[in-house]
Amino acid sequence: MAGRKIALRCRECGAESEPEFRYVCSECFGPLDVAYHDLPRLERSTFEGREQTYWRYFELLPVLEKSHIVSIGAGMTPLVKAERLGRELGLTNLYVKNDSVNPSFSFKDRPAGVAVSKSVELGLSSVGCASTGNLASATAAHAARAGLPCHVFVPGDVEAPKIAQALSYGANYIAIDGTYDDANRVAARVGDQYGIGIVNINMRSYYVEGSKTLAYEAAEQLGWRVPDRLVVPVGSGAMLNAICKGFEELRDASLVGDLSAMRVDAAQPRGCAPVVDAFRSGSDAVKPVERPETVAKSLAIGDPGDGRYVLQRLKQYGGAAADATDAEILEAIKLLARTEGIFTEPAGGVAVAALARAAGAGDMDRDELTVCYITGNGLKAIEPLMGVLQAPRPMRADAGTIGAAVARGGAGR
Ligand SMILES: *Cc1c(COP(=O)(O)O)cnc(C)c1O
Ligand SMILES: [Zn+2]
Repeated sequence: MAGRKIALRCRECGAESEPEFRYVCSECFGPLDVAYHDLPRLERSTFEGREQTYWRYFELLPVLEKSHIVSIGAGMTPLVKAERLGRELGLTNLYVKNDSVNPSFSFKDRPAGVAVSKSVELGLSSVGCASTGNLASATAAHAARAGLPCHVFVPGDVEAPKIAQALSYGANYIAIDGTYDDANRVAARVGDQYGIGIVNINMRSYYVEGSKTLAYEAAEQLGWRVPDRLVVPVGSGAMLNAICKGFEELRDASLVGDLSAMRVDAAQPRGCAPVVDAFRSGSDAVKPVERPETVAKSLAIGDPGDGRYVLQRLKQYGGAAADATDAEILEAIKLLARTEGIFTEPAGGVAVAALARAAGAGDMDRDELTVCYITGNGLKAIEPLMGVLQAPRPMRADAGTIGAAVARGGAGR
């Protein structure tokens, strides 16, 4: 590893600077991305036999010393060939990246783990985040592992399981009476004032690097093939952007072939779809949604930080943006669960609903190699589901009557 260097590079003007505790370009205030220099030569075989976490891609992550890694074992989640879901949608080559089974039960373990590790490397004494729910738990879990205090800033209306989870990890939980955007503003101020590593704000350059591993793993699990289509749920847009960066880095390292056939689709809930709206109107600026209203609370970001860059990615990769209503989202959750045995929260339902929409509209070839990203676990948001499921009625424990009901095709119905 000797010689590997990282720098921060401005996404707007390209100026490079030292990898410090900063996140905007001093020249133009653009966002900073991590750039890697003097990488060792990487072969496909480099990764064989390595640990089954996303730290297997250590060289491509922005932590310089392995001793600074804070890992709770996230990553290398299953890439499932979705035969039965594919059949329902008329697709023969569909895969689901099941990130609902990460240790804190969402993909946020990837960016949070990298940002907390980098906070350790930079010598910060506390961490935190602004969160729509999942990031609070992912950050708090990694902070617990590192023994660092953690301050999470969360809008007041997130799902109860997410609150219980973050509190259990010992986070200082700050419930904000307002939207995610309000929580984000407060976290930014407090973080800068007190030198707290706010993983998705002042540590954002490092944070987004973690989500690249969603690209690395999918490629490796496909035998280093590039999918024809990715379907990605979008909140802030950081993940979609990072997945694209990940594939580009694999290409630049000659680990995969060219990306000319890869399409990237974005999915948002109708109640908070600023990127979809901008895409449809042909605008390259995103108009914030003041009051997001959706069951997909983890995607309820009215003013997405990377929204503009998602639009650029859609253009670059010839992708589309699709939205899904609450009813479609809940149906999609049930569809994925009953066809593949994968239970996702509404954000995953949004991705499946968008995929179903694209397949149904004939926008896809039957045999496109498609990866649909399922980013969070269903147990985190059961309440809206109970509205569309039939709650079981307790029955007297009598095998005769229950047996008769089972024989008729159901019990408790
Ligand atoms: C945060 C989140 C997203 C969206 O990620 P962004 O980087 O904000 O676009 C998607 N799914 C789940 C489950 C999330 O928690
Ligand atoms: Zn700049």
